Amino acid sequence: MVLAMIATPAVAWAQGVTPAAPARDTTPPGAYFGVTEYQMARQKLELDMRKDGFTVYIIADMEGLAGAVRNATEMRPVARGGSPQHERFRQELTDEVNAVIAGARAGGATQFIVNEGHGGTLFRNVLPELLDPEAILIRGYPKPIVMSTGLNPMVDGIMIVGAHANAGSPGVIAHNFAFDSFTVNGKALNEAGIAAFIGGEMGVPFIFAAGDDALTSETIGMLGPIEVVTVKTAFSGSAAATLSPARVHRMLHDAAANAVRRTRRGELKPLVFEKPYRVRLCLRRQYARDEWVRTTIGRFEGMVPDGVEGCFAYTTSSAEAVGNMLNGVEWTVLKP
Ligand SMILES: [Zn+2]
Repeated sequence: MVLAMIATPAVAWAQGVTPAAPARDTTPPGAYFGVTEYQMARQKLELDMRKDGFTVYIIADMEGLAGAVRNATEMRPVARGGSPQHERFRQELTDEVNAVIAGARAGGATQFIVNEGHGGTLFRNVLPELLDPEAILIRGYPKPIVMSTGLNPMVDGIMIVGAHANAGSPGVIAHNFAFDSFTVNGKALNEAGIAAFIGGEMGVPFIFAAGDDALTSETIGMLGPIEVVTVKTAFSGSAAATLSPARVHRMLHDAAANAVRRTRRGELKPLVFEKPYRVRLCLRRQYARDEWVRTTIGRFEGMVPDGVEGCFAYTTSSAEAVGNMLNGVEWTVLKP
């Protein structure tokens, strides 16, 4: 999802001047409309949805797109310090989402919710005018439970396209929200796994994932034999042997169709954990070292320091509440 940027004032350092700390937005999550109102978002999306048919909910990230290997240029717009190449990968993201929608439709899906999952542009990457006209697109920031916004029991299957592997995995731009580790009842979850956890509580299975080889193998390890498409083989965090976009689009189409067919046959089940959920998370090191971030997150209701600096335990019987908590973490590190 997010690789938040901390601007490096290289010029000031080069001149031997200590830069002044930038003014920090310290608005807490609950004080800004749209950060924590996850139940409202869910109820509103339900009103926009048809109740019949088969609905897929597609999370659209970018690190796992065909050909994408470099966050700083390919996934970040000029206005946020990136490169014009970002537009090329917005097109690729849109093409891959459309291929998944077309495949899901061929497999029997009738309704398509697309939720932007890449934070480098504050969740505005899919080209709306080129998206399949039957899709509902959730874009922009803040939005409650960033990658599972509005997820509800009317959804029949969750998919992720352009996904990256977990923090610490040997994949392209591997990370996990703002965490170095995130476990529920001792089980490590990547970003797809966290969406599967939230959907699983609602009875919604996670059925499809596309990204590099590290992402697809670890996600099968977490969720079982869901449909996957390996679009590239990672050689480092910023290099891979990649298939061509045209070939990837065909593979996405066919696998998405299979995922819907297998779900309709009852083969793909929701991910269910025993309650209460015992979450343990460690902030990414750069955030754990940041005293303001660490103490702000430590004040969230239910957060208990867990030995190591920047690590917390959180126990609840609501997966949606876990999503809301991690959204509060995102808000703390990623102000617009
Ligand atoms: Zn991303």
